[in-house]
Amino acid sequence: MNMYAFQKLPQLVDKRGKLVHKGSYSKRKNGVNSITTRVWHHSLTKLSAGGSKIESFADFHVRTNGWPEIAYHLIINPKHVVDGKATIYYCVDIAKRSYHVGNSNTIGLGICVIGDYRTDKLDTPTLKSIQDLHAALIKDGIGKYDKAHNEMPGYSWKDCCVYSYQKAFKETLADNLPVKGTEPTEVPGLYTIQEGDTFWSIALKEKKDGITVEDLIAANPDVKPTELKVGQTIKLGAAKNTYTPTPETPKKEQSAYKYPLPSGVLKTGSTDKAAIKQLQNALNAVNFKCGTADGIYGAKTKDAVTRFQKVYSPYEVDGTYGPNTKSKLQAVLKSKGY
Ligand SMILES: [Zn+2]
Repeated sequence: MNMYAFQKLPQLVDKRGKLVHKGSYSKRKNGVNSITTRVWHHSLTKLSAGGSKIESFADFHVRTNGWPEIAYHLIINPKHVVDGKATIYYCVDIAKRSYHVGNSNTIGLGICVIGDYRTDKLDTPTLKSIQDLHAALIKDGIGKYDKAHNEMPGYSWKDCCVYSYQKAFKETLADNLPVKGTEPTEVPGLYTIQEGDTFWSIALKEKKDGITVEDLIAANPDVKPTELKVGQTIKLGAAKNTYTPTPETPKKEQSAYKYPLPSGVLKTGSTDKAAIKQLQNALNAVNFKCGTADGIYGAKTKDAVTRFQKVYSPYEVDGTYGPNTKSKLQAVLKSKGY
C-alpha cells in the first residue's frame, strides 16, 4: 500500500484505531477522491486546559456524543513539539467520512489545531506543522480547497476556526498573525440539525450569545433531544432567554410547581423518602421512567438519573442527583408546561 506524503512527515504520529471508538465511520463513496475541501478547525479548548488533548476529544465525541470515532482526521498539538515542529496526529483514516461539518462530511477532510484561538495564539512550531501538512496534502492531491469550519454551508455562526489559516500557510512569525477579524455573525433564529449534532454540542459547546441547553429545551418542547433527526429544524437564536427568567418575572416558589424538586444531594443510600419521591415523580413526568415513586433511591432511580444526565449534562454522569441535575430537570419540566 502506497504511503501518502503527509504520512511521511517526521512529526506525524499514527493514532488510527488507537483512540477510544465505538465501531467505525463508513467509507466515503469514492474513497479519498471524494474529498474536495480541507476544513480547518480549532478545538475551542484552551491550550492551558487539562482536557486539551486528543484522548479527551475522543472521549467526548464517542462517549458523550455517541459518534463512532473522534471527529477529526488530523489533529495538530502545539503542546508537543519535536525538532521545532508541533506533533500531528493521524486519527481517522482519510478514506472515511468523519463527523465534523455536518452535511459536508462526505467531501470534507477535518483538520483541527488544538487550542482556543479566540484567546490562544499560534506559535512557530504550530505554524510549521500547519504548513508542512498543507503542502503535503496538496502534493498528495487530497482536496482542492481550504475552508474554515465557519465557511462551510450552515456554519457561518460558528467560532471555528477563528485563526487565519490562509496566513498560517505563508507566515512564520506568530506575531504577524493577528486573530482573523471575524465580524460577529448573528446566530440564526432557526437551526437545521446536522449529522452528529446533540443539544449539548449545539448550545453548550458553541455557547453563542449565552444560549443554554435549558433555553433549547424550553424553546423546543416538541423536540426530543435523544432523537434528533438530520434535517430537523429547531429554534436556536430564537431560543435565547426562553428559559432564563427575566429579572421582572420572579421565579415561582418551588412548592408552586406541579413537580417540586428537592434541594441538596440524593444518591444510592439516601434516606430522605419524601425528597426521593419528589425526584421520582419528576423523572417519571418527563419520561425518564424509574418505576413507582417509592422513596427508595435504588437501581431504577439511579439508572433514570444516569440516563437523564447523559442527555442533559454529559460532563457529569454519575447517577447522583445534585444542584446541576436539579436545574436541568427544572428546565425540562418547564418545557413540558409543569
Ligand atoms: Zn470546527
